[in-house]
Amino acid sequence: MTGRRTIIRGGLVLGDHGRAAPQDLLIDDGRIVAIENPGFDVSDDVELISASDRLLIPGLVNSHTHSHGALNRGAVDDKVSLEMFLTGAGASTRSRGLDDKYLSAALSAAEMIRKGCTACFDLSVEFPQASREGISAVARAYSDAGMRAVVAPMIADRTIYQALPGLLDALPDDLRSQCAALAATPIEQTLSACRVILANWEFDRRWIRPALGPTIPLHCSDAFLTGCADLAREHGVPLQTHLAESRAQAAIGLVRYGRSLVGHLEQLGFLSERLSAAHAIWLDDDDDIKRLGQSGVRVAHNPSSNLRLGSGVAPVRNMLKNGIAVGVGTDASNTSDGQNMFEATRLASYLSRIDGFATDAWLSAGDAFHLATEGSAKVLGFEKIGRLAPGYEADIVFLRLDSPHFVPLRAPLIQMVFGENGASVRTVMIGGRIVFHDGKLLTLDERLLRRQAQEAASRLDQANAETYASAATVARLVGIFCAAQGCTGHVLPRKLKVTCEG
Ligand SMILES: [Zn+2]
Repeated sequence: MTGRRTIIRGGLVLGDHGRAAPQDLLIDDGRIVAIENPGFDVSDDVELISASDRLLIPGLVNSHTHSHGALNRGAVDDKVSLEMFLTGAGASTRSRGLDDKYLSAALSAAEMIRKGCTACFDLSVEFPQASREGISAVARAYSDAGMRAVVAPMIADRTIYQALPGLLDALPDDLRSQCAALAATPIEQTLSACRVILANWEFDRRWIRPALGPTIPLHCSDAFLTGCADLAREHGVPLQTHLAESRAQAAIGLVRYGRSLVGHLEQLGFLSERLSAAHAIWLDDDDDIKRLGQSGVRVAHNPSSNLRLGSGVAPVRNMLKNGIAVGVGTDASNTSDGQNMFEATRLASYLSRIDGFATDAWLSAGDAFHLATEGSAKVLGFEKIGRLAPGYEADIVFLRLDSPHFVPLRAPLIQMVFGENGASVRTVMIGGRIVFHDGKLLTLDERLLRRQAQEAASRLDQANAETYASAATVARLVGIFCAAQGCTGHVLPRKLKVTCEG
């Protein structure tokens, strides 16, 4: 017992196995030290917080997001696929200064907290290259918001035109030369920037930790992937990549490597417990999933952005059967239009129901909530978040029980997972500190953030206008190319064939 002690009395506590019961929680130095029946004795110096008429749940954990997406909200057109997005205006992070990088992360953190999320895994990109200052600006935004985060520079050594064989040839002459001239930052330059970031981490790792994000296997040479894995091992940090997110990636991977993307990564020695794979949709149902399970790779499931970009449905039940730890993520605010973990969690459960009529195989509300808390915690590598239990961090969300979907109250877990949209969030505590209460974020000035965001959006849209205009034309052509690639007659994973033939 070392720090400030707090007792939360009168709440309905969502504990293990989804059971909710009236209990009191004692917190010391930001951690839960006891959960007991109501009214247990504490000394007079313990601060009292009333949670009467509240459901107390562990803070949701976002296993995959990109803070840079917050400043690009609204920049991604309707009917845009993944590869169109990657070549288009919405993905642009050009012309941003350090203040913009901080601002984008602060906007993202503010939304997550408002919607009951207390920790995230952020792959943050910088143009033209990753830097210690840029990643520190992002980490500082989370620190100022009072949130936990894993922050990884999102990196690659190939442009999309180098990543997808045949793409350049499919473009008209004028665009081909323009796109062929683009180049990613050389490997050594990027890896040495990452080395600097990892060697000089200045944030308390109880709260904010570093990682590496080699973005998409096809966008990274083998030497680059191996270099990232070596660096991660050397510094004891996690890695996250976007794996088999689109049908085109899986099809092109087969052509490029002569085996599936997972098979290729396995051969490189890239699969390990250190790695988490975001999306993981277009996998071979048997071999790939077994390989991921056997090597301890974790998965970040992103149902909202998978639907928004038309990427597909991840085989989550099969992953769980193979012992894979799966978390839930929102992905960036420019590809899923928000950081709402309640919605992502609900979608994770609902989407599991379109595969067949065997109700036993569906993800229950409890399963989905487990993924969005303890499953995501495994992706982040934080051992003591995602549960309300003694020894765990006091990351607690207080939900109002007078919200319509809780009235009448019969099954708090089901009513929360299937009915909550974040509007019932009354109070958010992270590490024993209240960071949001009664509609107000207590750590960041949201009015100021809004003003700064509008100013930055106008300035950046103007500075990037030329890039945006040419990106719009290229994006359409890339979309056509990738749609065709996804449906060619190469040896494709089972689901690819079914979809293409259907
Ligand atoms: Zn992503």
